[in-house]
Amino acid sequence: MSEGAPVRRQLLVPTVPSYVASRLTPHALEPGAMLGVLGGGQLGAMFAAATRRLGYRVAVWDPDPEAPALRQADRAIARPFSDAAVLTDFTRSVSAATYEWENIPAATASAIEAIVPLRPSARTLATIQNRLDQKTFLSQHGIPVAPFAAIRILSELQVSETVGYPCLCKTATAGYDGKGQWRLETPRDLDGVREELTQAGAMGPWVLERFLAFEKELSVLVVRGADQDHRIYPVVENRHEAGILRVTRVPAVVDRRVAERAQQVAVAVVDALGGVGVFCVELFLMPDGGLFVNEVASRPHNSGHYTLDACTVSQFEQQVRVVGGLPLGEARLLCPAVMINLIGDDVLRATSGDRLPNLLRMSGAKLHLYGKREVRVGRKMGHVTFLGEKPDDAWTAAGAFHAGLG
Ligand code: AMP
Repeated sequence: MSEGAPVRRQLLVPTVPSYVASRLTPHALEPGAMLGVLGGGQLGAMFAAATRRLGYRVAVWDPDPEAPALRQADRAIARPFSDAAVLTDFTRSVSAATYEWENIPAATASAIEAIVPLRPSARTLATIQNRLDQKTFLSQHGIPVAPFAAIRILSELQVSETVGYPCLCKTATAGYDGKGQWRLETPRDLDGVREELTQAGAMGPWVLERFLAFEKELSVLVVRGADQDHRIYPVVENRHEAGILRVTRVPAVVDRRVAERAQQVAVAVVDALGGVGVFCVELFLMPDGGLFVNEVASRPHNSGHYTLDACTVSQFEQQVRVVGGLPLGEARLLCPAVMINLIGDDVLRATSGDRLPNLLRMSGAKLHLYGKREVRVGRKMGHVTFLGEKPDDAWTAAGAFHAGLG
């Protein structure tokens, strides 16, 4: 556009230029349509940015008025998910919807889906959002998971031979980033964990699962469109600290056959779910080459943030394409990458003094800050993706940066 030319506004209303319409499927939403997202954290903000880039508008609904994605929304709704009036208003204003975290009330998801397409569906969400239902579903579909048992009431907390020690007791709902997890090394820990759970007022049920002495943690993003077309991203390798994802390396340094099997398992999971959307399947790679699924997310995932800078089409753009009924994009890795999360006051260390200009000047480093106003312990404040020509370039640069964070 030449300088001073008037801003053209027609794409901001739900009309579609004929050149676009002629190339889209009948189910595709036209540019200018409003897509809705439940949850307004960084994942919602990245979805909002991708939504805008493809010419859609975006409505963000999050109970927390400070949620960062609300600031990027065409329509920002800071009200509880249980608000019936907001639900009516939201479903009237959006043409299709998705969510950026799994703890959306199932009733809200079903009520939305009764009016507009929700991708992934409320049924998929219900299976995913309860750890116990998820593990039961996966094992019933022949997907390998760690041996587990359901604990419905605290007095039932016993460790069977199948599960064995060491094991983890995890809350079935609302646990994330290692929260809501207790480790039991020996039978002597049973009383202590029972007491901790009682004191924490923790509500059951819980999943008791064998602690797996894995060699590596891997994850795979799989995207399935409304037309059943699908894309598989490369296998990545993840490192956690205190239960929170710290580093993602792509491609994972694993045998080619392991990578192929990991992708096959991930696709089998999404097939079993009949899922339409972006899914992340987290896996444990055992020293003998065996793979177990740890958990499945029915949304873009922190371990897929590298796709923003290192892939032809990011996980967030795929999410927009799925929700908008557009063809999926290519999931090609353009270069090796390493992503480092900025957790809690990492963000202060990474951006203090000369560090910020140095980081910004660094070749291949891409900084993402989430704009969260308050720094809290364990809170994801941003991430940096290091791109390399060769896998070792990205790894070395990320290692130096990580060491600098202390
Ligand atoms: P989760 O919230 O279930 O994803 O667990 C957070 C982290 O705890 C995982 O990424 C692993 O590092 C660790 N973890 C979870 N389950 C197990 C398990 N069964 N065996 C060993 N480590 C586990």
